[in-house]
Amino acid sequence: MTDIDRDQYQIKTEPYYRPVADEIAMYEAAYAARMPVMLKGPTGCGKSRFVEHMAWRLGKPLITVACNEDMTASDLVGRFLLDINGTKWQDGPLTVAARIGAICYLDEVVEARQDTTVVIHPLTDHRRELPLEKKGELVHAHPDFQLVISYNPGYQSLMKDLKQSTKQRFGGLDFDYPKTEVESEIVAHEGGVDKETAEKLVQIAQRSRNLKGHGLDEGMSTRLLVYAAQLISKGISPQDACQMALVTPLTDDPDMRDTLGAAVNTYF
Ligand code: ADP
Repeated sequence: MTDIDRDQYQIKTEPYYRPVADEIAMYEAAYAARMPVMLKGPTGCGKSRFVEHMAWRLGKPLITVACNEDMTASDLVGRFLLDINGTKWQDGPLTVAARIGAICYLDEVVEARQDTTVVIHPLTDHRRELPLEKKGELVHAHPDFQLVISYNPGYQSLMKDLKQSTKQRFGGLDFDYPKTEVESEIVAHEGGVDKETAEKLVQIAQRSRNLKGHGLDEGMSTRLLVYAAQLISKGISPQDACQMALVTPLTDDPDMRDTLGAAVNTYF
C-alpha cells in the first residue's frame, strides 16, 4: 500500500521517563482503546518525553509535529508538489502516521488555526479516516494509529483555545512539574549532577513558579533545570549556569532578573 519507511519512526532505545503517577497505565488503556489523548501541562514538564517513552514501550512508530500559527491543513495532510514529471502528491505527517499506524503527536496544537485543527476530526471518532480532498482519496487509518496532542492550559489567550468540538474528542492526562523529590531525581539523571545540586535547582525553580502571574508568564521548567545541571556538570559555576539556563531565557525585565538572581544566590 505504501512505500514509506516505517522503521525510521521507530524508537530503538528506551527514552528515560520517570513516572509521576499512574500515567503509564492510563495511557496504555487509552492506547488499547485507540482513544485520542490530550496531554495538558506547562511547557517543559515532560509531555513529549512521555509520548516518546510510550511509543517505545508499545513498540509503535512516533511522528511528532510541532504546531505553529502559520501551519495550514496541507502541512498536516499533504499537497501536490511540482517536479520535472509534473505534479506529484506528497503525504503530510498526519497522513503518513495514519497510513503506517504510527502514534501522531501534535505538539502545542492550540497554536494551529482552528481551520487546521478540524482536519483531525474524522480521524478522532469512530470513522478513523482522513479525506485527502485535493487528491480525491479517503485514507482509512491503520489499526495501530493513534492521535496525541499537547496543550498548555495556562498559556493560551482567549483568542487561542481549542473548540469544544475538538476538545471533546480526547481523553485528557494532566501533567505538571513533579514534586521536589521526583523532579530532583529527573534533573540529577538528565543533567549529570548529584542529588543535592539537583534539589537546589528545583528549589530555585519553585520560587520562580510562585512568581507566575506576578511578573512572569511561566516559571522555570524542568527542561531549563536540566540545562542548568548540564552546564554545571561541564564545570560551569552554579551561578553562571543558573544565569544562562534559568534567568536569561525566562525574562528581559531587569527587576525580575534581579529577583531571580537573588533566588539563585540563596541556594548557591
Ligand atoms: P514538554 O513536552 O512538556 O514541553 P519535555 O517532555 O520536552 O517537555 O521535557 C523537557 C525535559 O524535561 C525532557 O527532555 C527531560 O529531560 C525532562 N523531563 C521532564 N519530566 C520528565 C520525566 N517525568 N521523566 C524524565 N525526564 C523528564
